[in-house]
Order: sequence, then C-alpha cells, then structure tokens
Amino acid sequence: MGTLFRNGTVITASDMLKADVLVEGEVVTLIGLELDAAGHEVVDCDGMYLMPGGIDVHTHLELPFGGTVSNDDFDTGHRALAFGGSTSHIDFVVQPIGGSLHDGLETWRAKSAHLAQVDYGFHMAVTDLRDEVMEEIPSLLDEGITSLKLFMAYKNVFQIDDTTLFRAMQVAAQQGMIVMVHAENGDVEAELTPRLLAEGKVEPKYHASSRPPEIEGEATNRAVVMAGLAGCPLYVVHVTTRAAVEAIQRGRALGYPVMGESCTQYFFLTVDDHLAMPGFEGAKFICSPPIRSDADHRVLWQAIRDGSLQHVSTDHCNFWYKGGVGPWQEWAAAHDNSEWVDYEAQDPSYRRPGKELGLGNFAKIPNGMPGLEERMMVMWQHGVNSGRISPTRFVELMCSNPAKIFGMYPKKGTIAVGSDADIAIWDPNEEHVLSVETTHMRTDYIVYEGMPIRGRPRQVWLRGRKIVDGDNWLGRNADGRFIARRPGAPVL
Ligand SMILES: [Zn+2]
Repeated sequence: MGTLFRNGTVITASDMLKADVLVEGEVVTLIGLELDAAGHEVVDCDGMYLMPGGIDVHTHLELPFGGTVSNDDFDTGHRALAFGGSTSHIDFVVQPIGGSLHDGLETWRAKSAHLAQVDYGFHMAVTDLRDEVMEEIPSLLDEGITSLKLFMAYKNVFQIDDTTLFRAMQVAAQQGMIVMVHAENGDVEAELTPRLLAEGKVEPKYHASSRPPEIEGEATNRAVVMAGLAGCPLYVVHVTTRAAVEAIQRGRALGYPVMGESCTQYFFLTVDDHLAMPGFEGAKFICSPPIRSDADHRVLWQAIRDGSLQHVSTDHCNFWYKGGVGPWQEWAAAHDNSEWVDYEAQDPSYRRPGKELGLGNFAKIPNGMPGLEERMMVMWQHGVNSGRISPTRFVELMCSNPAKIFGMYPKKGTIAVGSDADIAIWDPNEEHVLSVETTHMRTDYIVYEGMPIRGRPRQVWLRGRKIVDGDNWLGRNADGRFIARRPGAPVL
C-alpha cells in the first residue's frame, strides 16, 4: 500500500502541471493523471501545490561562536525547517584549530544523529590547513562530504591566506569537490574595526562600517579569479552586494566554474531601517557580511532572476537577543561552554549568552540571525506573489539547484519517479502573518516580524512519511538521515 497525492498541481524546476503522485515506501513511484487509488491511502491535494521539500544549504545549528553557542540544534532547528516547508539542509562541520577534519566530523555527528528529524548533509569548514590536513581532504569523499568551506574573513580565527586557498582549490578540483568561500577581505576589516571602536563608534550600526561592500566585492573577485585559474568549482556563500554579483558574472562570462547564493535577509533588511535602530535593537540584525541597502536588494532580485546566483539559503545562526539569564558563568565553567540545551532545560527562564555579549562593542555581538523557518514563505511572498520569479524558478532556486550543485540530485530536490518522497503540500491561498509568537525556532525575536504572507505548507512529508500536518508535529528524533553526497556535481 502506498500514498496517493491526488488532484494537486506539481511544481518542479521545469514544469507546473496537474498530476497525481504515488509514493511507495520512501520514494515516488508514479506520476500521472487519475491514477488508480485502489489499495492506497489518498491525500486530497485539491487546490494545493505539490513542491519538493525545500533545501537550505547554509545553516549553523548548535554552532560554538562568539563566546556562546547558536540556539537551534538538530532537534528544534529541524522542526522549524520542516514547518517552513523544507526537508533537507546542509550544515557546516568546523575543523577544530590544531585538530583534523575527522575530529570536527565526529563532533558534528555526535550532535546530530540522535536528534535529526529531517535529512541533512555536512560541508567541511576548513580552519587550519596544515600539510597533513591537505592530505586528509580526499578522504572526506568516503564520508559523503564533497564541499569545503574556506574563510577569507575572521582574521586570526578562521581566515586563510591566498596560498592556502589556491592550494585547496587545486586539491578540490582533482577530487571533483566544490570550494565555498566566505568572501570578505579580513585584513581590511581587522584594520577598520579597532579604529571605529577607538573613535567611540561602538553601536551595532558600525558593524556595517567595519565591513563595507568593497571588501566583499574585492574578496569575491579574488576567489573567482583563483577558481578560474585552478579550474575548481566555486560557490560564493551569502552574496550581498553589486560588486560581488558582478565579480561572479564576470567569472561566468569567462567560462569559470563559479556560482553563488544569497540569503533571505539580504533581500529585505537594511542598515538604515534595521541595524541603525535605536538603542541596542540593531544587534538583532548583525551578521557577516552585513545587511545592506534597498539598492543591493534590487541587484539580488535581478541576480536570482537572471541566473547569476543559483540558490537562496539562510545562514541561519541564531542567538538570544536577551540572553545570559541564570547562573550561566558557573554552568559554562563546569561544562566547557557547551550543553546549553541542558542548561536551558533546567528552568524555562534560563538562557545561554546571546547578543547582549556585545553591549558597548559591536565587534563582540555574536554574528547571525534566525531565518530557516521563514525562507520558503518570504521568498514565495516577495518572489512569486509579487511576480518577480515564477513558481518553477522558485522551486529551482529553493529545491533543485542546491541539490544539483551539492551532489544529491535527483534523490533530493525534485518530484520525479525514483526521487525521495520529500514533498511540501503548499496552500497558495492561506494568509498569515509571521511572528515570534508562532515561530518554531528557539528565539526571542524574528527578523520578519509582522510580515504578511499568502501561502504556506499545509503538510510536509519526508521520505514518504508525514512529519508536519497543519500545526501538528509528527516527526521523530533520529528519523532524519545523513545524506552522503557524490563528487563531480555539475556547475550550473
Ligand atoms: Zn554561515
């Protein structure tokens, strides 16, 4: 007995058509008109769209960062992802400085496998590329990891020099892997930040002054040129501004294997309206690169329309706005700055440290914001409902392209015979308003508070099993599965 999704409109990256979808076991086995329902459970999808479950390739769950740990873990983060219509994501393993890539992988496996409720993969964030670590890179393929992330920013923490980046690109190219870069010139940022602080410019809005668009454009261009010379597929994460988009366009025009993404917040938030809010409110909107301007928003919408950028992710990495509640110093000392979920479970009023760490010094505000739950809904509202992108382009950007670029297509990212039955049943007419009161993320604010949306997932199915039914959660811990990805993925 299977499950027959009947009378819906199926949307893929190429087509939008009325069809029934039969799911048997974990996969789609038949797509057609008026399929025979005998012996199957029928899900009536009249008036609904059937879309592949969304994929977000840029998240940071339970990430130790900036003197604390990001709030959502592989339990709450997965639930929120699914309520937003996504069924898979790729998170970043971070190599410990001085340790191996596999040391990092063990750590991330330990935080994910027993909690996972949706499917997930890992990128490897390489932070300390010693010779023996360079030699370790090819063995990642045996672990199903095909993507390396390198940082051109965060001097004296994660930043690598150009020699290291170029060598890593050559190794990756040989192995059929893809290199991802955080492209900002960290040397320049490291000069600007102390100068601003010395001038008494300590409020959140000066975060943007410390990381101007020029340093993103310069670093993006440098990475694009190096990728072209190395013949290495490059994926620039969180592109925010014209100079960076143009660097990618130039590389693509030259035939370089370069691609990029932006993240939801960079289409909506601005320095003037958000980062410069009175008091400390701007801290909620601090991420790197910083949010920019309306003019940049227009550039990004055009870039996802014309194919200069291939995906919209979130860089979800959320911290309490008002954190640090309870005897957290003692807890941190006793628990090696970890196990914050247990800490907060003791007493609902307890909170791990958050944005308040940077009161009086913008450089100490943990970077990142919540967003993985709202990604599909806000891009549907402002992309599809506003006429900027078609429903098929929406599916391409949010589901299919990320699966293709990162080596998990067509198992993930489409509705096709043989694909995993990851399906969002999308009600295009339901009107609602985004609010922290109704979010499933572990957060005390959201960045789209009050945003009206028409369209939301009614049900979400993961490999043939219903995990979201309206407001009800049916997922189970440890049901989410690690996605082993394949090398040699196409450059789109
Ligand atoms: Zn990130």
